[in-house]
Amino acid sequence: MAVEEPRFLPRAGLQRLIDRLRNQFQQVLGPQVCDGAIVYGPLQRLQQLPIGQGDRQAPGSYRLEAAGGERCFAWANGPQALKPLLFTPEQPVWRSVRNADGQLEFLPMPAEPESLAVIGVRACDLAALALQDAHFLGDPADPWYVARREGLFLVAVHCTHPADTCFCASTGDGPTCCDGFDLALHELDEGFIIEAGSKEGATVLADLATLPVSREHWTAAQAQQAEAARTQRRHLRPAHELACLSDALMHSHWAEVGRRCLSCGNCTAVCPSCFCHRHEERPAIDGVHSAHVRSWDSCFTAAHSALHGRPVRADTAQRYRQWLIHKLCTWQDQYGRIGCVGCGRCISWCPVGIDLTAEAETVLGAAYV
Ligand code: SF4
Ligand code: SF4
Repeated sequence: MAVEEPRFLPRAGLQRLIDRLRNQFQQVLGPQVCDGAIVYGPLQRLQQLPIGQGDRQAPGSYRLEAAGGERCFAWANGPQALKPLLFTPEQPVWRSVRNADGQLEFLPMPAEPESLAVIGVRACDLAALALQDAHFLGDPADPWYVARREGLFLVAVHCTHPADTCFCASTGDGPTCCDGFDLALHELDEGFIIEAGSKEGATVLADLATLPVSREHWTAAQAQQAEAARTQRRHLRPAHELACLSDALMHSHWAEVGRRCLSCGNCTAVCPSCFCHRHEERPAIDGVHSAHVRSWDSCFTAAHSALHGRPVRADTAQRYRQWLIHKLCTWQDQYGRIGCVGCGRCISWCPVGIDLTAEAETVLGAAYV
């Protein structure tokens, strides 16, 4: 029987959810502390989650700190989004081999079906997944992305502890998850309100030992969501105002940002919606075998804009301008919305603390005072 109504899952019931998913999916991932950050890793036990863990983020800074208590999700997103699970940093596209006649044979890399459940996905990353879907499931669809996407089961967690760098409330993408999940959790001190967002999610929910949701639980969940939105200090302007960025190509501020930006590409690597990539041939030393590989690229590299051997965007100011205007302005022409979901990762993980909300505001400030 499928459960349609939200239910209350006692805290210990989270282990039952992990076990249930491990019975159905090839792999279950959940957030864990690794190398000083919270990232997804293979999840078998509830105790692997970042229980009692918090974080402190600021432009150019990310630190874990103790939050106390029993909560598993009292922190904001770390550097890793869903992106590397679907649009992998490297994807072999084909292999080639020189046969005995000296002819090249090309061997395709078929997409294998994969089943994966991810626990702890936040609202901003569900929104970014929808953006990546628009890109990779379009025509022609990316077969490797399709194979991974079809086997993906998402357990979302409504965000209660946004970082100083978050601004999802202003982009309309968080902190509460609205759709795109199979199950969603409100974490409370006593346990979780759990609701299904798909038939598959309802089937899993029906297998858990749950209780009715009390009025007190609902009131507490709504209050913490309102507080999570209210405490976000950064914001972006509405999309129609951001669309004016392309009218400011000659603004002097681009040169000023270009003097601070290192062109390192960290911002594009952590961004859950960026999809730039490059193709390269990797011949083996035997002179017989070769692999053709697609890998992540960044619009901050000189080679990314190379045409006929020369970069179109030769300096850093031009590359930053390209990134910001595409993300906030021309993405709207391509996909009907801005390409930013307000996760704040590019702010926290920029080594010099460049803040796209502040840079956009400076460029647009004269137009909208
Ligand atoms: S541009 Fe920055 S804040 Fe926006 S989605 Fe990408 S990483 Fe997150
Ligand atoms: S904005 Fe920051 S993270 Fe992005 S390329 Fe420049 S220095 Fe690197």
